[in-house]
Amino acid sequence: MSEARIAGVAVDTRHWIGGRRVASTATFLDVSPIDGSTLARIARGGADEAEAAVAAAKAAFPGWAATPPAGRARVLHAIADGIEERIEELAIVETTDNGALLRSHRRGVIPRAARNFRFFADWLLSLGHEDFSTHTGGPTDPGHTNHISWDPAGPCVLITPWNAPLMLATWKVAPALAAGNTVILKPAEWSPLTASLLADIAAEAGLPPGVLNVVQGYGSEIGDDLTSHPDVRRISFTGSVPTARRIAASAARNLTPLSLELGGKSPLLVFADADPELAVELAVEQFDNAGQVCLAATRLLVEESIADEFTDRFMRKAARLTQGDPRADATDIGPTIHPRQVERVDGFVRRAIAAGARVVFGGGSHTRLGGLYYRPTLLTDVAQDSEIVQEEVFGPVLTLQTFADEAEAIHLANDTRYGLAATVATGDHRRAERVTAQLVAGTVWVNCFFVRDLRAPFGGSRLSGVGREGGTWSFDFYCDLKNRVTAPKGFSDHG
Ligand code: NAD
Repeated sequence: MSEARIAGVAVDTRHWIGGRRVASTATFLDVSPIDGSTLARIARGGADEAEAAVAAAKAAFPGWAATPPAGRARVLHAIADGIEERIEELAIVETTDNGALLRSHRRGVIPRAARNFRFFADWLLSLGHEDFSTHTGGPTDPGHTNHISWDPAGPCVLITPWNAPLMLATWKVAPALAAGNTVILKPAEWSPLTASLLADIAAEAGLPPGVLNVVQGYGSEIGDDLTSHPDVRRISFTGSVPTARRIAASAARNLTPLSLELGGKSPLLVFADADPELAVELAVEQFDNAGQVCLAATRLLVEESIADEFTDRFMRKAARLTQGDPRADATDIGPTIHPRQVERVDGFVRRAIAAGARVVFGGGSHTRLGGLYYRPTLLTDVAQDSEIVQEEVFGPVLTLQTFADEAEAIHLANDTRYGLAATVATGDHRRAERVTAQLVAGTVWVNCFFVRDLRAPFGGSRLSGVGREGGTWSFDFYCDLKNRVTAPKGFSDHG
């Protein structure tokens, strides 16, 4: 079986290598988190598929790298058109595969995947740096001209997680292709389907064979063959810290440059001067996608004087959330991706309770909806050095701690090994500036959450990542930057 039907949409379950579908003798099961039903048997790649995909990307590289930027941009816009034409199909397949809300996919996530292609296509055409002169002689020296270019680097391995599959894949694929590189995309094994549809869309849009390759399989089986390959020039990875360590060790063999977008344990700091309704809205928003959001502010840090009032308001608002089938319009929170992830989330909660935490809200799976529907949960009485405060849960679990003053708030906020994001709720401009200046985080939001602009740098500090992508930073990563220094002499022609 090389095709699955997901809500009426045909999805090829094989790899996409060198412009054609390639099967593997081994397969793995893809299961829907909505009801645990089997969706497909997916090709399970290994060393041979990794080798074939890198070879295809290497063979296609010279042609795509030599395609003028305007030509590349045209194809990228055509891919964006293809995504927009198939929003409905992509949204239902993604929801069925990873359990995130259908309405979010329709309105936000899938359109953003198309925007990734449009944005990087346009940014490519505006990319440039003004030439500048180096004067090595006296005042009459006309100067040597420095001209900086962003040259394509070569085949890129892009590895993505399951929580926002198409959005995160396109966030990497689009700049890598715009830069003139070729790609081997390895989606997560818990949500492999939309990557296959992306391959179809790219081919229909006129992307030449081998420029985008999609290999499926378990990271533990195919990952090392991809990340240690000497012909791979860049690796961009979004996922967990333990996997990042393995990839970094593997990439070290060839010193392949890496971009790592990893987990977080981000804080939401709520000061007494904050708009109370807004602060609670921001807090409850952290349950979005059942908490399976790297940027989620899972640590609520609330000023002591308003903690009781904040908790009451939080409980009232959180109690109105509807958990259920992510395809239903009325649903606010869907399921957790996989039974193994539920076990992991519940393990954190059980251990926190054993260590003295109090469950204020939720805790455990929904009795009526079943095991995969972990209830939105709030824990208090948690120690700063406890596991639940220090480690990423990646589920709908928040902790609440209080602080006495600004200094303590900043200390608690920064006191983990992560540094992905932080959110501050305050009614005082000056406080916002003081506090945000001292927070260690790649993105800091003030009185808002999740507002993302593709021109901005994105990434994490400390264990939350290495490097930044977005805007020109993406091209800095996916390109070999070159400075051409030209002397004002030595030419026999006249230019
Ligand atoms: P994961 O690390 O388990 O897997 C991510 C990907 O890596 C998957 O495709 C997997 O197959 C692959 N992989 C596994 N072992 C590999 C190996 N040895 N070599 C190469 N690839 C390998 O992460 P996950 O559970 O899929 O995703 C959740 C994590 O991702 C969380 O920590 C979350 O915070 C993080 N995340 C970060 C961001 C960000 O932008 N910073 C965004 C989304 C998710």
